[in-house]
Amino acid sequence: MSNLDEKEKVSTDFIRTRINQDNESGRFDSRVHTRFPPEPNGYLHIGHAKSICLNFGIAKDYNGLCNLRFDDTNPVKEDTEYVDSIQEDVKWLGFNWSGDIHYASDYFDTLYELAEKLIMKGKAYVCELNADEIREYRGTLTEPGKKSPYRNRSVEENLALFRKMKAGEVEEGKMVLRAKIDMASPNVIMRDPTIYRIRHAHHHKTGDKWHIYPMYDFTHCISDSIEHITHSICTLEFENNRELYDWVLDALELYHPQQIEFARLNLTHVMLSKRKLIHLVQNNFVSGWDDPRMPTISGLRRRGYTPEAIRNFCSKIGVARAADSMVDYSLLEFCVREHLNAITPRLMAVLDPIKVIIENYDENAEEFFDCQLHPEDESYGTRKVPFSRELYIERDDFMENPPKKYFRLSPGNEVRLRYAYYITCKEVVKDANGNIIELICTYDPETKGGQSPDGRKVKGTIHWVSAKHAKEIEARLYDHLFPMDNPAAEDVENFTDLINKDSLKVVKAFAEPHLATLPIGEKVQFERLAYFCVDYDSTSEKPVFNRTVTLKDSWAKIEKKA
Ligand code: ATP
Ligand code: MG
Repeated sequence: MSNLDEKEKVSTDFIRTRINQDNESGRFDSRVHTRFPPEPNGYLHIGHAKSICLNFGIAKDYNGLCNLRFDDTNPVKEDTEYVDSIQEDVKWLGFNWSGDIHYASDYFDTLYELAEKLIMKGKAYVCELNADEIREYRGTLTEPGKKSPYRNRSVEENLALFRKMKAGEVEEGKMVLRAKIDMASPNVIMRDPTIYRIRHAHHHKTGDKWHIYPMYDFTHCISDSIEHITHSICTLEFENNRELYDWVLDALELYHPQQIEFARLNLTHVMLSKRKLIHLVQNNFVSGWDDPRMPTISGLRRRGYTPEAIRNFCSKIGVARAADSMVDYSLLEFCVREHLNAITPRLMAVLDPIKVIIENYDENAEEFFDCQLHPEDESYGTRKVPFSRELYIERDDFMENPPKKYFRLSPGNEVRLRYAYYITCKEVVKDANGNIIELICTYDPETKGGQSPDGRKVKGTIHWVSAKHAKEIEARLYDHLFPMDNPAAEDVENFTDLINKDSLKVVKAFAEPHLATLPIGEKVQFERLAYFCVDYDSTSEKPVFNRTVTLKDSWAKIEKKA
């Protein structure tokens, strides 16, 4: 694990370079204070993890602070379930926010006062154009906008109307408060943006107190300012909003953080749009936000991914200012394998069993092999693996008519049963339809422990489970929810048509007894197969395992080729 910690140390990216410059010039008195500002309208996903690692990581690197602030200005879409899950996920990723949790709604009173102040400065007005008209008046990228007929109201009239809006005396959609900036600005966002709108809705924190809610662009910069944030890091789609961020703070003569934009994470096989993720959950395409096929932090956690692996992934992808690029999902899997390889015990289970009968092994005998739980770390200890006359091996590990260089079990061929003995296949037993039902084998008692005293070598080693000692387990085998690289780019009416119908396969498997004793959340390697973890649906009668990631490593090959 120590080498992972080492790798987590991040090199200097363009954001840290700018922070270094600010520290040198003394711009923020050498303070570094960031924030992570999720909107509580969904669960966090792997894209948020990039932002979390960046904001909290910078605070850590500079001995600074990072706030957690809920950007809860839209009462209609927000929910306390999301507020709770977001806190849990940030903590699980290994980060602590500074001080109390902040809510944009904590600032509603201040924001309101500042809006009145803007009105009094002649820099905001109440507009009665409807949403369509506002859009029409806004103009386009190539044409300037038109001024609203309500733009030149007096300060007194604006104040009176804004107070009526606040008092709940105006219908939704009838009026908005707009900043008075420039309808001809080349930046469309600066064409008198709406800063307050009417919503007669219950808010998860402020209840029914408010009938008007501030818009993101007005709220965000002021919240940053109130919290004395130094560097307000956000994704690239807010680049054009920076001018408005600066305008609001300048107009109100407030302390002024620096907004910096970086490229969003996009991952192959994954949809990160919250709207789409909510759709999957609400329409039961998945079992919930934490379905192990979801790209949510809670889904990845349930799947068996570790915080260390996710942080290492975020450090490997780095941060760039360049336009959003697509990261290969196999890089994330590579990071997961790398960590699980270091920390997981190895155990044996058979997912697709075929029976082996060892005809020269006493029917009533059994023995127990002491086997190390981790090949390189003795501190993991050992467990006893039972052996007897009837075993299960993987169907894949036998071929009746093998091609050349097939070293696993085949008629007449000798293989090593991991930790146990050499066996040779003598006979294949089939049912009336010609399906193989069992294999009759013999074992060599001299090869106990899987070593031959005469130095006889076998090329294949296979895993197995003693049939009479085996515990039946449920193994949930996951694959990508979206089989194509870039599902968002597919031209379909319903994105759910793209879902991989085989993304979850549930199989009954046989496991060595120790596997049935593991607690929920425990991570293991099923030897030669994959990494698994114990799901919370698991009971002592029916242990349930999620396949986290297979052992096959396509990323390492890609990297080697490059
Ligand atoms: P919404 O469309 O609901 O605003 P969002 O993805 O922007 O969705 P937020 O809750 O506003 O969600 O995000 C919180 C923070 O996480 C923001 O600073 C946002 O920029 C960042 N973030 C969201 N998605 C990604 C992503 N794919 N890559 C990097 N950062 C992201
Ligand atoms: Mg957002």
